[in-house]
Amino acid sequence: MRESEVHFGHRIGWLRAMVLGANDGIISIAALLLGMAAADSDRSTLLTAGMAGLVAGAVSMALGEYVSVASQRDSEHSDIAKERWELEHQSEMELSELAAIYSARGLSPTLAHEVAVQLTDHDALGAHLRDELGISADDLARPMQAAGSSALAFIIGGVIPMVAASLASKASRIGLILAVTVVALVALGFTGAKAGGAKPGRPIVRVLVGGAAAMGFTMLVGKLFGAAIA
Ligand SMILES: [Zn+2]
Repeated sequence: MRESEVHFGHRIGWLRAMVLGANDGIISIAALLLGMAAADSDRSTLLTAGMAGLVAGAVSMALGEYVSVASQRDSEHSDIAKERWELEHQSEMELSELAAIYSARGLSPTLAHEVAVQLTDHDALGAHLRDELGISADDLARPMQAAGSSALAFIIGGVIPMVAASLASKASRIGLILAVTVVALVALGFTGAKAGGAKPGRPIVRVLVGGAAAMGFTMLVGKLFGAAIA
């Protein structure tokens, strides 16, 4: 297959969740650590805050993703049940509904009818789910899987600035956390774009600008707050 013929659209769901999770992990933990470092915290306070942030972030990612994907799954399930009932109880109407969909996509009425008849014989429910509702039966929403993978992605992302913070001396920690975070964000933007089949330039710039804003703002707040309560 030529490279231009490979499509990645079907990967977008989990890919988006993983990249988002890792991105969140890197930026929020880096920002947290930088805020603490700017407030002149000692090493153990810094790392404890980072660890707490890592756990809190992973839990909240998992929960948020679970809730959103579970409600998507529920609506898919109720659509499937409804469609199944309609196929059983009003098969004639369902057949003309399917034919209407194909003729709206450009087939002649006769051909559309013939396609609808054959697909109905082959797998009526599958044809309705796919062409009427846009649901693919072997690609249904999986809430637990989504929750687990975004929590894991958050942890993997967040561990990166944590490692930098634990290795650095007090004098070098801000610089090192910043440097490691920028490298990680570039690598993530690049990987995400490549895996999604897009050009990496814009995603990298987006993620860097967002990350820089988050870190700069948190450092500023950390510094002001640290000075205010000192
Ligand atoms: Zn239908």
